[in-house]
Amino acid sequence: MALTRREFIQWLSASAGMALGGCASTEETAGAGRVVVIGGGFAGATAARYIRLWAPDIGVTLVERNNEFISCPMSNLVLGGNTRIEDLTSGYGGLRKHGVRIVRDDAVAVDPDKRTVRLAGGDALGYDRLIVAPGIDFLPDAIPGLKSAEAQSRVLHAWKAGPQTVALRKQLEAMRDGGIFVFHIPMAPYRCPPGPYERVCQVADYFKRAKPRSKIIVLDSNPDITSKKGLFLQSWDGVYKGLIDYRPNSELQDVDVKGLAVKLTFDSVKGDVLNVVPPHGAGNIARQAGLITANQRWCGIDWRTCESTAVKDIHVLGDATLSAPAMPKSGSMANQHGKISAAAVIALLKGQPVFQNPAIMNTCYSMVDGRSAMHVTSIHKYDPAQKTMVPVKGAGGVSPKATEAEGTYAWGWAKNIWADALG
Ligand SMILES: Cc1cc2nc3c(=O)[nH]c(=O)nc-3n(C[C@H](O)[C@H](O)[C@H](O)COP(=O)(O)OP(=O)(O)OC[C@H]3O[C@@H](n4cnc5c(N)ncnc54)[C@H](O)[C@@H]3O)c2cc1C
Repeated sequence: MALTRREFIQWLSASAGMALGGCASTEETAGAGRVVVIGGGFAGATAARYIRLWAPDIGVTLVERNNEFISCPMSNLVLGGNTRIEDLTSGYGGLRKHGVRIVRDDAVAVDPDKRTVRLAGGDALGYDRLIVAPGIDFLPDAIPGLKSAEAQSRVLHAWKAGPQTVALRKQLEAMRDGGIFVFHIPMAPYRCPPGPYERVCQVADYFKRAKPRSKIIVLDSNPDITSKKGLFLQSWDGVYKGLIDYRPNSELQDVDVKGLAVKLTFDSVKGDVLNVVPPHGAGNIARQAGLITANQRWCGIDWRTCESTAVKDIHVLGDATLSAPAMPKSGSMANQHGKISAAAVIALLKGQPVFQNPAIMNTCYSMVDGRSAMHVTSIHKYDPAQKTMVPVKGAGGVSPKATEAEGTYAWGWAKNIWADALG
């Protein structure tokens, strides 16, 4: 009896489920295939939702360690006292309504040969295609003084929105007027190029209102402001004049937690509140799964499908990827990776042709105070000759200046992308 390709895939899915025996007992059976997504952030949630929207006959299980989604975009405003973390928090109920099965657990191991994902809770999930979208994890050996949990609870990064964001806000509130906030930025590439400079604006906005004698020292590992330089300088040299001491080429050696000091190559900078964003790479599960291909940090992918260049049938999205030239690690991009991978995974599971020329758009707003924002935007298109995404010349650009109108657009962008990812 001749099987159609679809019937063959159905038969394969069913027999894979049988082969997994007990470990597959918690899984849904799905007509056209089973997809497991690790990570319910901007990338993974979008991929899960769009697979179900475009192919309801594919079973999608999303593994996420947190109960709720908390948005990094707009989280700097919590530090400035310009919004609350609750305003950036959503549940996963919208995805459930689309038929995505949500498993709240930690994915601890991937076995690409058996096509299973093992969970901390003991279960294992079988997949036909796996999507790995774990965001970032900090490099454990990068800062000796921040190895212990106790040290990490005192010198915060607040670079994953959530409890650390709230705790850093509390440290700023508790700081005396006349105190010094020392903020260290890692070398690019890091999550969200303009994010650190937006943070400086938000803390400056708070100090200007509540602690006008205080100062901000920005220790940047990079040789210069890496994004929207002219626009950030407009506000640093304008409304925040005298508040911000920006020091480029400030490579971090260590952090003295007891002495509250950031140690640089030739210098040590003391503060009342330290905020250090450690160097980071793809989330740990990507490392465990053998997906890291570049600088021991990032995962190389084929940009037409987001499929890993290292391991077959596994797609990697979002901040964990080795960025294409001039492509930022942003929620905007992660959301678009989710859509590229959703379309590709459906096509690959159904034996249909994969779209060969994806083009995606990035927009990043930065709020300079509680109301005004400015943006940077770019378009990235797949170039078959270079086998990567390249920025489209002449497309995109930056705002001429921060305005309140753009502040409204920034909130509109945030609410739209949360809805697009989470339903
Ligand atoms: C302060 C700040 C401001 C920012 N502002 C903007 C902005 O204005 N615009 C913009 O576009 N971008 C912005 N970004 C960047 C944006 O937040 C990231 O680029 C985006 O979150 C990346 O999406 P992701 O899905 O790759 O990772 P994430 O959104 O971090 O999602 C990863 C998810 O995977 C889960 N996870 C990880 N490992 C496991 C595991 N093993 N098992 C189960 N679950 C796991 C995590 O819990 C998390 O929910 C900002 C970032 C910061 C820090």
